[in-house]
Amino acid sequence: MTFKELGLSEALLKAVADKGYDTPSPIQEKAIPRVLEGKDILASAQTGTGKTAGFAMPMIQLLCKTEPQKRRVIRALVLTPTRELAAQVLEDIQTYSKYVDLRSMVIFGGVNQNPQVSKLRSGIDILVATPGRLMDLQNQGFISLRDVEFLVLDEADRMLNMGFIPDVKAIVQRTPKKDKRQTQLYSATFSEDIKRLAKTWTLDPVRIEIA
Ligand code: AMP
Repeated sequence: MTFKELGLSEALLKAVADKGYDTPSPIQEKAIPRVLEGKDILASAQTGTGKTAGFAMPMIQLLCKTEPQKRRVIRALVLTPTRELAAQVLEDIQTYSKYVDLRSMVIFGGVNQNPQVSKLRSGIDILVATPGRLMDLQNQGFISLRDVEFLVLDEADRMLNMGFIPDVKAIVQRTPKKDKRQTQLYSATFSEDIKRLAKTWTLDPVRIEIA
């Protein structure tokens, strides 16, 4: 299987080639075509499987189908449990989107919020965030999630174990309803709690399991 056969566009294929990936990983083979079809995804996959490219590349491609508006709004939101993971996900997203016209940024706690706020004001298409700082900036009125079309919950089990689920629930509530957004949920494990949350957050999801 090649990345081209998965349906990726020239801009994405070029970025993948620059990055030096030859063949898609199993999660990429399974997720990329289904995300491109518009399906919700429920995937059990660990870090190291290539899941980030699996959710990010097709999402970037779908975001490019519509022209950016004059005033950019957050159309894609990726939630991750830690600032390290958030920073890594942003780096990957910027790598895969280098030949397209999309703006992305990351927000996380533990640092001054002012640079984050001014960057948000400049207009962003893809936001990567940890739940606490996102809630915080939202409560201060700096972030609106009403235009989110793509929602990714990365490492959902870790967000649960770290106690972020109340924040995550509130954040998901503030995005459009599940029939108005495309939701991807990735988790290394699927406890009963995660399964229940996944059911409320996703609509008729494609189930993907990677050992
Ligand atoms: P992830 O599971 O998303 O954290 O990715 C793990 C590592 O695999 C990252 O360093 C990626 O750059 C790398 N990677 C992702 N997809 C591929 C691929 N198709 N071929 C080779 N390396 C990849």
